Amino acid sequence: MRRSCAYCDGDRPLTKEHVWPSGFLDRTGRKGAHFSTRSGTVHGADYVVRDVCEQCNNVHLSKLDAYFCDLYDSQMAVARGFDERHTLVYDYELLSRVLLKIAFNSARLAGSDIEPFAPLRHYILKGGGKPKGFFLAAELVSPAIPSEWAKNSDLEELSPQGVYGSKLGVLETPNGSAAVCRIVNVNSFFFHMLLRQPRASQSAFKRACRELTEYVESVVALPAGEQSVELRTSPQNAISSVQLHLERHMDQYQEFFDRYGDKTS
Ligand SMILES: [Zn+2]
Repeated sequence: MRRSCAYCDGDRPLTKEHVWPSGFLDRTGRKGAHFSTRSGTVHGADYVVRDVCEQCNNVHLSKLDAYFCDLYDSQMAVARGFDERHTLVYDYELLSRVLLKIAFNSARLAGSDIEPFAPLRHYILKGGGKPKGFFLAAELVSPAIPSEWAKNSDLEELSPQGVYGSKLGVLETPNGSAAVCRIVNVNSFFFHMLLRQPRASQSAFKRACRELTEYVESVVALPAGEQSVELRTSPQNAISSVQLHLERHMDQYQEFFDRYGDKTS
């Protein structure tokens, strides 16, 4: 049986779609090594999926890639240090659509649950106003301090320069189970997306969204009606963020909490 397009369910010929925009990979050098949850191996960064029809790929999604590359060039290309401020200037619709696209592409590639993306596929393709059951927030993370992980390290800080990823997180707050948490991070910028769990109520989902920004001061909501927000790094960010979004395959964080979990709770 012929497969249908992951975005429009149509039966046009399927094409190759880069999980991360190709222009972004040109900028970062296509050198990154990434861990694949499906194969359990580390391989190069140029992932592709082959389930997107030519119309979705070339007409609708390619515009989002151009926006992501512009945003990278103008605001995200250089990792930040400690105690910095950044005014994130954004176009809500283009930013949320391209982040959702990256998350949806990587979820399919990794074999993660894609059901929460189903109500958002039309929005990713064509926009049309902020969808219900979706929440976007941003965080400027500070560099890691290697001495907290490795006592003998000479490095004073570990910059997130060149680090990017798309992950499934867990929102460990009272209503956190009402949301699927997806994180897309590039250098110092972490974008936290909450998608309503298909069987959760809209009111529980809204509470989960409030909890995300209330529990972690440095995670800032990106309102659909605004064009900019103020972000501030704090030395606590890396730890507090990880507590809320325990990333399932980041062994160094796991090791960190195995050793220091009691002190950070
Ligand atoms: Zn399509």
